[in-house]
Amino acid sequence: MHKKIPSRYLRPSQTASEKVAKCFGKGPYYARRLRDEANHLLKTGQILETKQGQGAAHASLLNHHDIRESVLKFARRQLRPAKLVRYVNRFLFPKLGIQSELSERTAFNWLSKVGFNLTKVMKGVYVDGHEREDVVAYRNKFIKIFEEEIFPGDQLEIETPPKLPPGVKAHRVVCQDECCTSANDQCLYEWKEEGAQPLRDKTRGRPIHTSDFVLEGSGYLKLSDEEIAAQKKLPKEPLPPSLNLQFEARKIIYPGANHNPWWDMKQLIAQVKDAIQIFDVKFPNDVGVWIFDCSSAHESFAEDSLRANKMNRGSGGQQPKMHDTIIPSGPFAGQKQAMVFPDDSEEKDEKGVPLAGKPKGMERVLRERGLLEEMEKKGRVVGVCKECKKSQEAKDKAAKEAKARREEMEGPDIDESQEDNDDSDDFYRSKDCCMRRVLELQTDFKEEKPLLQIIIEEAGHKCFFLPKFHCELNPIELVWGNMKRNFREETDGSFAKGKELVPKGLDRISVTTIHRYFLHCYRYMDAYKHGLNVRQAEYAVKKYTSHRRIPATIRVDPESSPCEVPEVCPFMEGTFLIRR
Ligand SMILES: [Zn+2]
Repeated sequence: MHKKIPSRYLRPSQTASEKVAKCFGKGPYYARRLRDEANHLLKTGQILETKQGQGAAHASLLNHHDIRESVLKFARRQLRPAKLVRYVNRFLFPKLGIQSELSERTAFNWLSKVGFNLTKVMKGVYVDGHEREDVVAYRNKFIKIFEEEIFPGDQLEIETPPKLPPGVKAHRVVCQDECCTSANDQCLYEWKEEGAQPLRDKTRGRPIHTSDFVLEGSGYLKLSDEEIAAQKKLPKEPLPPSLNLQFEARKIIYPGANHNPWWDMKQLIAQVKDAIQIFDVKFPNDVGVWIFDCSSAHESFAEDSLRANKMNRGSGGQQPKMHDTIIPSGPFAGQKQAMVFPDDSEEKDEKGVPLAGKPKGMERVLRERGLLEEMEKKGRVVGVCKECKKSQEAKDKAAKEAKARREEMEGPDIDESQEDNDDSDDFYRSKDCCMRRVLELQTDFKEEKPLLQIIIEEAGHKCFFLPKFHCELNPIELVWGNMKRNFREETDGSFAKGKELVPKGLDRISVTTIHRYFLHCYRYMDAYKHGLNVRQAEYAVKKYTSHRRIPATIRVDPESSPCEVPEVCPFMEGTFLIRR
């Protein structure tokens, strides 16, 4: 007696096709089509020609002129399919007297048909200027500082600070950055009209602005419960009353019209001062190595800093009084130079106005440096040439526009790096066209310390700025990415919820995870040190996630093999989102 053979063994192709169809949520018709196509392919070696779309076209409501125009107009104002569905069903169809309902699926198709594409908001590290000569030179210097000054002798390899001889202080890296989240920042995808710039949603909701610090071994810069208890036991007396110690460095504000003012340098300076106090309580014997992004805001200067673009050609008048300096080069190198006339000076300007206690102009400063004679030999010397004037005007205009845009848009995620760092023009411009240019290229002017650096160094710590366009070297960027991923999943679009989710999302990231983020950034440094370009580095860093350095095998000789890694890096999306 034969056993009954189960039908799945009798009709294997039917069984298989039905299984496949089921996977796609399709029924027997789809399965039959699959079998037909497979048979056709086996017999002829060719794909069955599809009959789809050859019949009479469906009467799509989108062919209706008014609908198409309205949809397009609506789409241009930035939307998601769900919003289009609402708009069409509640407003457009009733208005046109159409008895129909748009599904989200169809809304999706309609958007494509009117020329919109769903684009993943790509936030990679590819930015023009990343590999520019001067940027790379600064990057090399930055990495060298890490190797020689911060982790001496260990080439970024150490896991814990090395045993130090007595008297030598351990270095602890503290990285700062800012992040803006808006209440309805729900979508990783953005609809984009073909050939157009990504649309910015004016109705993104109120921004939540966070500025925070992370440390390699201990996560966020904040006091532990025990440290807080110990602080509370201390007599209040030794601290001046104004220095009310904060227990954590994080600052969250909710800026916008009629709300908190926008984040600015003043607030950052106040936060940094608090952060230094917290650091000193936590690590009284250590040196903090404070790392900031290189943005023009972070590099803003003290009132009395040396800035050629604030100076006039002549002395006196309306220009800032700058601090004394040492002449860096030329016949008088090493001599002290005052930027203000002494109080007992007898000198007068051309109009006979006494110059005692007045600021010196560019002409005077250059003459005292022995540089003016050289310029005069080459011809007529101007204070500010047309090109330098134009360049400064463009910079001022860009800065003003960026500020206005930020405020008008209530807009987070404005591409600050591009606005702040567009100095390629500076890099390629003539070096001796006018007095301002010569002066601004003098080492003491060029290397003038930003206010942040002055404050940090005065507190006995070190301060460095990341190379321009290199936010991938800042571990806190990964903290933001992590927080934002959870935020997008959990937000309901309301400000109240967003306000709650930001700190919750940040606190959820463990000390171990933050430590991993640091290693990630050190791997980037290691990759750059070994000559990998940004694509190769990104690939290597994400492939070898458990190492501090990238393995020697992946390191490529940039001369002989310009790109051994895939052109499109499979690790590029996903795990780590880095703000441009
Ligand atoms: Zn010039």
